Amino acid sequence: MQIRKKKRGQLIVLSGPSGVGKSTVIAELLSQRRDIYFSVSFTTRRPRTGEADGVNYNFVDRMEFERMITDGELLEHAEYVGNYYGTSLKIIQEKLEAGIDVLLDIEVRGAAEVHEKCPEAVLIFIIPPSFEELSRRLHRRNTDSEDVIAGRLRKAREEYRQIPGYDYLVVNDKVSEAALEIISILCAEDCRTKNRIHLVDGI
Ligand code: 5GP
Repeated sequence: MQIRKKKRGQLIVLSGPSGVGKSTVIAELLSQRRDIYFSVSFTTRRPRTGEADGVNYNFVDRMEFERMITDGELLEHAEYVGNYYGTSLKIIQEKLEAGIDVLLDIEVRGAAEVHEKCPEAVLIFIIPPSFEELSRRLHRRNTDSEDVIAGRLRKAREEYRQIPGYDYLVVNDKVSEAALEIISILCAEDCRTKNRIHLVDGI
């Protein structure tokens, strides 16, 4: 049975500490839900090995990022471990209006800003099975210095305090299971009466 799609896309916010494996979970999720648009953020951080401009992030300098803030081009932005990160407002609006679901991978302050501006957004927080595992994963990634890793772990503790403000909590033990949990959440959100009420229009 073909179900008529809701009119507006769903805004999905995914947060979680750096190193939790969000990118891997997102890649798995997007391979199964090809209809979701992943928002490529703007950042002033330097590309890591293997990252490409326009794919993982749009890499810009601080001057350009500050211009975007001033010109109101960002839906949200935050400074995280010394770098700016932000989401393009125009692209998100266009996709949502076209009925396309949009996924944001953003940290907690940005997520709070999105929640305030778009209360209908679904907020999902992703955690590792334990804090020790998070530290192990950050070390295994082998991309950051000890100082940066320590900063990211401190930041993770702060971020955990914001978890009660999220709608859903997903544990990334196995990537496939974490992705499946997110797919289930999105499926449940699609089935909400408010997202399907158009199916009974005019009856
Ligand atoms: P990383 O440097 O590890 O790629 O990302 C650091 C943090 O920045 C992650 O928690 C990630 O979710 C967050 N982040 C990535 N893009 C954005 C964005 O556009 N806005 C905000 N607020 N955070 C972002």
